[in-house]
Amino acid sequence: MNIVLLGKPGAGKGSVSEFLQKEYGLFHLSTGELCRKHIKEKTSLGVEIEKFISSGQLVPFNLIMQILKNELDKNVKTNYIFDGFPRNISQAKELDNLIKVDMVLLVDVPNHIILDRISKRRICTSCHKVYSVDNVKNNTCLSCGGMLEFRKDDNLETAKHRIELYEQETQPLVDYYKNKIFVVDNSGKPQETLKKLKAITDIVFQK
Ligand code: AMP
Repeated sequence: MNIVLLGKPGAGKGSVSEFLQKEYGLFHLSTGELCRKHIKEKTSLGVEIEKFISSGQLVPFNLIMQILKNELDKNVKTNYIFDGFPRNISQAKELDNLIKVDMVLLVDVPNHIILDRISKRRICTSCHKVYSVDNVKNNTCLSCGGMLEFRKDDNLETAKHRIELYEQETQPLVDYYKNKIFVVDNSGKPQETLKKLKAITDIVFQK
């Protein structure tokens, strides 16, 4: 089972992935996380992509494909949650050449809630777990004790730009995947989202 997650930046794709990983043992593949790892480790790809990420632009097609294929080559080609990939129709067509997409989940949240969540988002520098600043103390990861930081591309202006980019580039994928897409509303409490999500995945995974 391969799942593609769609949703604006800050919609909560990370939390949905965490649930799917735990519940069904799927492997989380976040192209954003892979990009940040390349930048942190100062690989040649990392040096090339840094300017795109920090300004909230999409990484060019050939570079993001290189990053994705490097990762897919390490593992078997199934049981993935694709988080942040594909971001447009060209990437979706390329993904169809690489693996079979079984199901698409759109994590849906209105823009004003997203911007509020992004302004409060902190990420662990060590294990990459994501938190809201409301739920942590001393800027420390509850899971591994690592230091939490603000993502460079989470400032308000860049976040607005990333939402616009999503609407232009990524939203058309809702139509591209119309035969296998499910929508999960994530504007409420996490427990409510997980309940809705479980209702969907229980049906799909039993087929
Ligand atoms: P994310 O963590 O998914 O919000 O991604 C953070 C940033 O990484 C994006 O704003 C892009 O600059 C880059 N990125 C991640 N995935 C892709 C992709 N599929 N195509 C192009 N750029 C990407």
